[in-house]
Amino acid sequence: MSDAKPNFSTTCPDCGHELPPETEVCPGCGKTNVSAEFASDPWSKWSKAGNALKTKWVASVVAFWVSMAVMLIVYFVEKKLNLILASIVLGMMLIGVWLKTRYQLHQRAEPNKHTENA
Ligand SMILES: [Zn+2]
Repeated sequence: MSDAKPNFSTTCPDCGHELPPETEVCPGCGKTNVSAEFASDPWSKWSKAGNALKTKWVASVVAFWVSMAVMLIVYFVEKKLNLILASIVLGMMLIGVWLKTRYQLHQRAEPNKHTENA
């Protein structure tokens, strides 16, 4: 039941200030909840950022379909295209494509755990 923590020092992901182990607040920029694991391991940092991007992408896709459904309902009720809703749908689509592209680019930029010929 030993709570072993790495005793090497890490750097703040925001300002690069060197942090003692188990630091919660960065002395350089005051950022709280600086996880030593997060700051020291580029792969886990990359993985977390990828998950955040994926969540945003999924949310934008859901928002796209919801706004699309609303637009179609309004279209059938009013018998004409609501341009404000149509532009929202288009905007959601563009955000979704943009986030998907960012996510795919992020996936390609995976930090190498083992070196290959670059
Ligand atoms: Zn900092």
